[in-house]
Order: sequence, then structure tokens, then C-alpha cells
Amino acid sequence: MWWIVQCPELRCSKHMLVRARTKRKKCVYCNRSFKVDDNFINMYHEQVDAREMVKKFNSRLRD
Ligand SMILES: [Zn+2]
Repeated sequence: MWWIVQCPELRCSKHMLVRARTKRKKCVYCNRSFKVDDNFINMYHEQVDAREMVKKFNSRLRD
């Protein structure tokens, strides 16, 4: 199982993939460390599906 989380840093707000039941994540974009539970967006069975969604979420932010 894979989870999508969103970086809580407002100027970043990037989505990223973590393994299910990960406790903390460090944002690869802004280096902020955050609690996964508090920033959980969605879950997926397949890593490819989760990756696709992360791509979609992040491309929406890019304008
Ligand atoms: Zn970030």
C-alpha cells in the first residue's frame, strides 16, 4: 500500500509518495520534515497509480 501526502509548507505544497505506515517524511522539494498522518491525502494499492496521481497533483501547482 502506498500513500500520497502533501507537504505542509505553504510555499511548497508538493505531493509525494510514501510507503504505508510511514511516520515522518522529509519533503524532497523544500527539506521540511513533517508528520505523515497530518498531511495524508489518499492511498493506493499500486505504486504506479500513486505515482501517476502525484504527477497530476504536482503539475496542477506549477502555473
Ligand atoms: Zn515541501
